[in-house]
Amino acid sequence: MNDNRDHYCNICGEMKAEGEGIRIISGFICIPCEMEMVKTDVKDAKYPFFIHQMKAIFMEKNA
Ligand SMILES: [Zn+2]
Repeated sequence: MNDNRDHYCNICGEMKAEGEGIRIISGFICIPCEMEMVKTDVKDAKYPFFIHQMKAIFMEKNA
């Protein structure tokens, strides 16, 4: 099953090693995606996508 060595980024879906991103609730966000989210403006077309991905993570936890 899952161990702590590899994580799939909940945003881009890429597999990243421990230390290449941050663990959140029940998911994982890689550093490039985290940086992208931080600099993404609410008016940016990508913003709704990030919010959608984040919601999926939180909903998973509350399910
Ligand atoms: Zn990513």
